[in-house]
Amino acid sequence: MLSEKIQQVLNKQLNTEFHSAYTYLSLAAYFEDLDLNGFAHWMKIQYQEELQHADKIYTFINNRDGRVIIEPLAAPRAEWASPLEAFKSALANEQALSQKIYEVVDEALQERDHATHAFMQWFVNEQVEEEAIVRDIVSDIERVIESKDGLFLMDRDLAGRTPQVRQESPV
Ligand code: MG
Repeated sequence: MLSEKIQQVLNKQLNTEFHSAYTYLSLAAYFEDLDLNGFAHWMKIQYQEELQHADKIYTFINNRDGRVIIEPLAAPRAEWASPLEAFKSALANEQALSQKIYEVVDEALQERDHATHAFMQWFVNEQVEEEAIVRDIVSDIERVIESKDGLFLMDRDLAGRTPQVRQESPV
């Protein structure tokens, strides 16, 4: 059984993951518009991953006999100055997500809710990976930005991303 407070922070995190999915879908649309279809493809996979994160929380709340509440989503940002700026904003998004996940973990610790604490560790580890991957892409764009074919070659590279199969948490 979830406490009111934990149920509330988990529902908030569910909404945050959906909003993050929305942001990545908006980033995909931005890259589609630039005809950088590999970048757009990468963002679409990221969008799908965020939906899976939301779904994990949905299942967990229900498994703990809590009540899922679906809240409205704010419109995501729609314009960026350049591919580099778009990926820098994706990195900022991931860093902000990590902070929000830590806040859920803090609440779980404070309430001595060990099940929620254990569940959230998957997200803590996932964020380390997410931040590292996006940071690498930011570095790559910075490296190729001066060359005429750089973004084109990166686009072809990112087109090859396949959804990752990550180890599931036990809940
Ligand atoms: Mg996520």
